[in-house]
Amino acid sequence: MSHFSIKNGVMHAESVSLQRIAEQFGTPAYVYSRAALTAALAEFQDVLNAHPVGAGALVCYAVKANSNLAVLNLFARLGAGFDIVSGGELERVLAAGADPRKVVFSGVGKTAAEMQRALEAGIFCFNIESAAELERLNAVAGAAGKKAPISFRVNPNVDPKTHPYISTGLKEAKFGIAYDDALVLYQRAAALPNIAVAGIDCHIGSQLLDPAPFVEALDRILALVDQLAASGIRIHHIDLGGGLGIKYQEGQVQPTVASYLNPLLDKLAGRGVQVVLEPGRRLVGNAGLLLTKVEFLKPGEGKSFAIIDAAMNDLMRPALYEAWHDILPVVRRSGEVRAYDVVGPVCETGDFLGQARPLCIEAGDLLAVMSAGAYGMAMASNYNTRPRAAEVMVDGDQVFEIRRRETVAELYAGEQVLPA
Ligand SMILES: *Cc1c(COP(=O)(O)O)cnc(C)c1O
Repeated sequence: MSHFSIKNGVMHAESVSLQRIAEQFGTPAYVYSRAALTAALAEFQDVLNAHPVGAGALVCYAVKANSNLAVLNLFARLGAGFDIVSGGELERVLAAGADPRKVVFSGVGKTAAEMQRALEAGIFCFNIESAAELERLNAVAGAAGKKAPISFRVNPNVDPKTHPYISTGLKEAKFGIAYDDALVLYQRAAALPNIAVAGIDCHIGSQLLDPAPFVEALDRILALVDQLAASGIRIHHIDLGGGLGIKYQEGQVQPTVASYLNPLLDKLAGRGVQVVLEPGRRLVGNAGLLLTKVEFLKPGEGKSFAIIDAAMNDLMRPALYEAWHDILPVVRRSGEVRAYDVVGPVCETGDFLGQARPLCIEAGDLLAVMSAGAYGMAMASNYNTRPRAAEVMVDGDQVFEIRRRETVAELYAGEQVLPA
């Protein structure tokens, strides 16, 4: 069920009309639905709770998909843990009330300072992505008088058949360690004084709509777990990463969480390992939209443009990955439908949110760019000195501003001209 729907001819987020939100908070604005966020997490929790292997599993929301404090706080309250990729994200989840014992730390370039802070906070696990990182963590933990829990991110070398920019589990990826190096690296880790081997992890890519590559990856990981056991190294948790896709286009079908998870949980039966998951997009993607206003229409012979007040700096995915987002009018009108390229004011030809979209619109109309809750605001920039959009969260018939719109003065507040 979508939490964004048409009521009396006007698109609503839960019970609040998007027209009202635009009047109150201006555009462009990201609009999230609390109920949609809650339902997306519950879909994971329900499948896990219903499966004997799922009890005690840890769902670590991948913060990078949408790191607003209100979103993090909501998930923390619902019992989720977090997958972080920087010291900044660690501070965010702590500020949002996360339990540090439910935090896993991924990323290929962890600094000594980031490691130190994470050790001090007492996180659940460091997901190690190289031999050099292991040695650094051992040294940092030793200096802090601590033992660091680790897991290696192993590349199972499975093709997720997704966009190359979001495919991460292949041999050629910068992420993780090579499958064939894993045994030797685990032996090294087991011998280090300030390291405690805790788990194994993988993350093969993003926006996967076919669950088959996940199963293939788990088979490869389990073969490794057996090899490790044979050499006396016990794995306490298996972290299957994130990557489950969402529906971006009307008519597309997204796999259910059950169809993704149950085959994986079945394979883990009897192994006595804890399951860890790192979903990002799936928890937030369809719980948010980008609300924008049409500034001008520019009809043409070849192409017609709808110039809107949101741009690639607000939502980068179409420019970066040629990603598709449905673009819907907030109020349906009747009249001539034209194919518009929906573009922003940024000085780049790649600045489009959609191309050749059949729309019946006039200047001043509101549009909703759908499925924008993941990798939307989180990837937004200030390119062209554009203040980042406001973010609001709807809860039933209430709206809360969870990040106010930036001011232009804030954008250059840290800058300094040379002395006269
Ligand atoms: C990005 C990322 C995720 C989340 O990916 P989604 O496709 O958003 O689910 C999980 N784990 C790691 C290590 C990541 O880099």
